[in-house]
Order: sequence, then structure tokens, then C-alpha cells
Amino acid sequence: MSKKIGRLTPPSDGQEITWREGVLEIPERPIIPFIEGDGIGPDIWRATKSVLDRAIDKAYGGSKSIAWLEVYAGEKAKETYDEWLPQDTIDALKHFRAGIKGPLTTPVGGGFRSLNVTLRQVLDLYACVRPVRHIKGVPSPVKDAKLVDMVIFRENTEDVYAGIEWEEGSGGAQKLIQFLQAELGKRVREDSGIGIKPISVTGSKRLVRKALEYAVAQGRTDVTLMHKGNIMKYTEGAFKEWGYQVAEEEFSDRVVTEARMWDELGGKLPDGKILLKDRIADAMFQQVLLRPAEYQVIATTNLNGDYLSDALAAQVGGLGMAPGSNEGDGLALFEATHGTAPKYAGQDKVNPGSLILSGVMMLRWLGWHEAAELVETGIAAAVREKRVTYDLARQMKGATTVKTSEFGQTIVSSF
Ligand code: NAP
Repeated sequence: MSKKIGRLTPPSDGQEITWREGVLEIPERPIIPFIEGDGIGPDIWRATKSVLDRAIDKAYGGSKSIAWLEVYAGEKAKETYDEWLPQDTIDALKHFRAGIKGPLTTPVGGGFRSLNVTLRQVLDLYACVRPVRHIKGVPSPVKDAKLVDMVIFRENTEDVYAGIEWEEGSGGAQKLIQFLQAELGKRVREDSGIGIKPISVTGSKRLVRKALEYAVAQGRTDVTLMHKGNIMKYTEGAFKEWGYQVAEEEFSDRVVTEARMWDELGGKLPDGKILLKDRIADAMFQQVLLRPAEYQVIATTNLNGDYLSDALAAQVGGLGMAPGSNEGDGLALFEATHGTAPKYAGQDKVNPGSLILSGVMMLRWLGWHEAAELVETGIAAAVREKRVTYDLARQMKGATTVKTSEFGQTIVSSF
């Protein structure tokens, strides 16, 4: 039995996930904290929870299940704790190792940073993982969306997201501008705001390591380092170099670089190997549109990854169906990638696909692949039957518009 965490009482019949020497141990009934989220969060969470529970039950006949523990962030935390992100929530997510969350309002004013960014930083969830794959029948703006089957690993803790910046005219900005001129001989206009872009060996290597580990585990044969190193040599360029280093130091038996493939192997990737290449960020945006089949796993810095994730999500039908996770070592938080869409809150209207598919990622992280497959097949069936929420229905001829809850029920009815 798990003891209380602050004001939270974990379910007495659940067990803790453990992480020993790099290996996760998953009990039959793990305690998993969830954050319902703001705006449309409760609607999509209700549908997601019911789909996940039913899939697990169907797949394992009651021998596995999740002991859910509600934890609070955003508006519900403000009501319950009078805080936006209580320490209890952080402690529970750390302790129980896996969590799932709906979208959260970013409080405006008062110097608040995004709760999502804060959660990633305090839990050191250093990899934002976004699988992007087309589900047959989902409307897409491109000719052949099925060619898109990629997983983006976006560095989650540094780059311009480190939040080290000073407003134009502030004491900090002025001091830095003077320092740059006086000590380093670099001129910056007096009326500039200043932001700092740290990219470290540590942050880069652990992110690329995670992407390579994923490629090895999933039998993927292609990993691309996306960077803007032609302009930002010591940050983006260094990310690329450190990426190649980690491949050479730790994956040399599995990885072949593109240069080596052409110089020494006649342009052919040997069986069982992973091709490691790099692409400049602007070219990459063209590549994923023009030659999507050539990219499977993409490892990149924070800002590049932010842009690329949304662009790729659009290629396969939009954010309503795009899942994501934030992962550290033996710790993961799965989340809807869209926002709180407040105008639709409480209407049982929006698409729960993003959160349900994030739940699928969580099932796979737990090693519960049979349940994950059931849900994926159920979503594909709902789309095939054209029983979809308004966002998809308005783009699909002959579709029946269903509510959030009904979309969940359609998925479950296919199990
Ligand atoms: P948003 O909440 O993502 O909504 C923008 C539009 O996207 C909606 O009006 C709707 O389009 C569509 N949409 C979003 N989720 C959908 C779903 N599940 N099903 C169908 N359509 C969906 O973006 P926002 O209005 O910019 O942000 C609102 C709040 O969310 C802000 O406070 C922001 O900070 C926060 N936010 C949180 C997260 C997060 O927690 N991860 C991420 C982004 C934003 P239509 O109007 O065309 O139907």
C-alpha cells in the first residue's frame, strides 16, 4: 500500500511502479496519477479513462488494471489548493513515475510561466516524444498522408525555452548589452530585448540517446538529427556533433552514418542497422512534405521540435488527433497536445483523440501492447465508420457528427 502524499490519498489496492538500474517494473495494478485539465479537459478525460479501462479489461480479463489517482494542476488546483501547481502533484508524479494529463490554462499575468513547461522542468522530463502517423480516413491536407509515420524526439529542458530572457530597456538587458560590448567586443542595439539559448552536451546527448534507444527497440531504421547549425554553430551545430558522438560512443554496433554509407558501403544500409543522418531545420520542413517516407525518427532541439511537431500533426489531420509524452529516465507524463479550447468546455463536443492516443502511448510505455492495439484498432474503426467529432466530420463527406463521449463509446464497441 502506498502512503499519503501531502493531501493526496493513493488508492489502497494499487501498487507503485519501480525503476531499478534502468529497468521499469510494472505491477498488475499500477497507481497512475491523472490531471483532468482545464476547459475541455474533463470532457476528453472522461472519454479517455473509459476507453483505456475497457481496453485493459478486455485485453487482460481483469488480471491487469490501473488504480487512478487524481492530482491537481491549473484551475482545479487553484480551487482546491489555492495554487496553480501544488507540490503534492509534483511529488505524486515523481513517486508513481507515470502520469497522464489534459490541457492546462496558462495563467495570464502575474509572471506565470506555462504550467506545462514548469512540469517538464521540475520533473526533468527531458524528451518530448510525438509520434505522428496517419489514421486511414482522417482528412489531411496532403496527397498521400499515409507516408507520414514519424516519431519526433524534441529536447524539452533547454534552448530558448530555458526562460532566460530580459525585456528591452530592463536593467538586465542593459547590463548584458554593456558586458557583451565591453568584455566580448560584440555589438547589440541598445533597444534590444535579450534571450539566451543554452544547449548543453548533457541535454543533447541524453535526448539523442533516447531517440536511438527507441529506434533500436522499435526496429526503426532511420534517425535524423534536425538542427540549424549552419547559423548557430555552437548551439544547434554542437547539438548535431554531440548527437553523432553519442551514436559513435554507445551505438556503434547498430548505427551507420549517412557519410559512411555512401563512402564505404556503396550507398546501401546493411540489414539490421540504423541510418543516422542530419538535416538543416529549414530543409527538413521541405523534406517532411516532399519525401516523408524517408524519415522515421527525428531528434531535435526544443524550438525546432515545437514547430515541427505541429506542422507534422497538421499533415496527418491536426492537433485533435496528435498524441504526446514528456519523458525522463523512468518517468513519463502523457498529454493531449492541444490546448483547453475554452469555448467548447463542458459541451461534450470536442475530439478526445489526442488524449486517447496519448493513453495508447502510456499503455505501450507500461508494456501493455495488447490493450494499446485494441484502442488503436477501435479509433481506426470509428474513423472508418465516419462516426467522428465535429472537427473531423466537417471535413469528411457523409460523416455522422458524434459527441466526445459517443466517440469513446464507438471505439469501445469495436473491442
Ligand atoms: P486550443 O485550446 O488548442 O484551441 C484552438 C482551436 O483548436 C479550438 O478552438 C479548436 O478549433 C481546435 N481544437 C483544440 N482542441 C481540440 C479538440 N480536442 N477537438 C477539436 N478541436 C480542437 O488553443 P488556444 O485557444 O490557443 O489555447 C487555449 C488555452 O490552452 C490557453 O490558455 C493556452 O495557454 C492553453 N494551452 C495549453 C496546452 C497544454 O496544456 N498542453 C497547449 C496549448 C495551449 P475550432 O475553433 O476550429 O473548432
